[in-house]
Amino acid sequence: MALRNILKQGDETLAKHCRPVTVFDERLHTLLDDMRETLIESGGVGLAAPQIGILRRVVVLLDVNQDPEELIELVNPEVIEQSDEARVVEGCLSVPGVYGYVTRPQHAVIRAQDRFGNWFERAGEGIVAQCFCHETEHLDGHLFTEKVEEYVEMEQENES
Ligand code: ZN
Repeated sequence: MALRNILKQGDETLAKHCRPVTVFDERLHTLLDDMRETLIESGGVGLAAPQIGILRRVVVLLDVNQDPEELIELVNPEVIEQSDEARVVEGCLSVPGVYGYVTRPQHAVIRAQDRFGNWFERAGEGIVAQCFCHETEHLDGHLFTEKVEEYVEMEQENES
């Protein structure tokens, strides 16, 4: 496993559309393992492959509602259900030190494949639902700053 460098806002890779994963091989597993290590090291709650320069539809995120926290691997994820919108403060590992209010669902269901290509669905509440949306938007080249309604001064928040 290896730590990967997290790209910052302004890097054009972050604005690109990612391609679906079609081959579930050792290379994908290495990418997922590296993303897992990089996310844990960063202290964030979610990481999308384009944030480390890989234009593939791959996400890792921590389900912080589980005890102990569970790291979920999402390949080709798609948010298929969302409800209970709320105005929440969000940040991003690619936009360090910047936080702002965005409107996000507090309940969401994501459909994705695991590292072996098996499809599954998973529901998330609160920050996990928020993270489902934030991370899948990265795969389409979007940053949360496009959605910020108001920036806030903050010491530290969850970044994804
Ligand atoms: Zn992000």
